[in-house]
Amino acid sequence: MRRNDAIHKPLTWTVALGIGLTMVTSSPAEASPERGCAPASSGIDLGGLVETVGALDIGQILGEVDVVACDLVGVPIELPGGLEVPIPAAGESVTIAVDDSGGTSQVETVMTDADGVLHHASDSHGAAGHGGSAALGLPPMGSPRAQPGTTETTSEDSQRCNDPENAAYGYRWMSDSVPFSVNGSERRPDGVSSATLGSTAGTAAERWNEGSNSCGLSGAPSQLNLVHEGSTSRDANISGSSCTARDGRNVVDWGPHSGSVYGVTCFWAYSSGEIVEFDLRMDSSDREYALDADSCSDQVVLIAGVMHEFGHATGMAHVTERGEGDLTMSPSTTRCDDSAALLGYGDHLGIMDLYG
Ligand SMILES: [Zn+2]
Repeated sequence: MRRNDAIHKPLTWTVALGIGLTMVTSSPAEASPERGCAPASSGIDLGGLVETVGALDIGQILGEVDVVACDLVGVPIELPGGLEVPIPAAGESVTIAVDDSGGTSQVETVMTDADGVLHHASDSHGAAGHGGSAALGLPPMGSPRAQPGTTETTSEDSQRCNDPENAAYGYRWMSDSVPFSVNGSERRPDGVSSATLGSTAGTAAERWNEGSNSCGLSGAPSQLNLVHEGSTSRDANISGSSCTARDGRNVVDWGPHSGSVYGVTCFWAYSSGEIVEFDLRMDSSDREYALDADSCSDQVVLIAGVMHEFGHATGMAHVTERGEGDLTMSPSTTRCDDSAALLGYGDHLGIMDLYG
């Protein structure tokens, strides 16, 4: 069942609330007030924007200004929490998910509409939790329920296999396949081989494609086909907690993140709801990964973190954090907890709803 015409819109769009431009390092062309760049009501000369942007709070103005006419497409804007994305072209959006093993994960979307008006939405899931799908205004899910179990379940599974919560951003892949390549060599953490990230990403992609879960649920999302195309020397279009300009290639790599951020995923989409690119960067700085839970000692289990990031890359949003053994799309990945290496009940419902 395709549901392109019924994409969830769980996020409440606000017009550029709280967005301020950061320093511009390159110089876009001069703004053109005669093209509607500076609204008469604002009383602000946007012709000088490029020079003063670092100190100017233009949050409300961005909602009125044609960012295309003002040559602001591609200019980085700072979002809550220090996240940063370039202003998208008209009819496009960019979503950044910054995942933190300390429970302060954050997701922000910035969209430029056909009139060049900038919009911003925050996914407020995180340490505080929330009411779940219902609070996001999602309709009841119609995906398959758990089948009578033929699979052994653990105590962790009893939590994640009874939690139906799931959420999506309103964006999905619409192409027959989603090819991605992996740069597992550069910037990799100590003690991790150059093949590790590629094999782990390949496993994660396959598990989302197959709907692989620890709950005995049947059904695979027939319209999701993430394809690992091998290694690359390209880098993800990610720098710290920022999405950079996209290059049309889906790339998974290692790179330094700050604090206890273990993974960042950026995806770009059209206003039709179609995702057109994702990039995914796992943290390489000051952190040891455990390749499995058995050998883990206060570390992030790599496959669990990569599974969560690939969930974002498919368009899956966060659900309530419930602690150890909760859903793969909960905001925090508990150290040494590898339960997120397979989907839980809500994860399976969500991916089937997007791609079933
Ligand atoms: Zn996340």
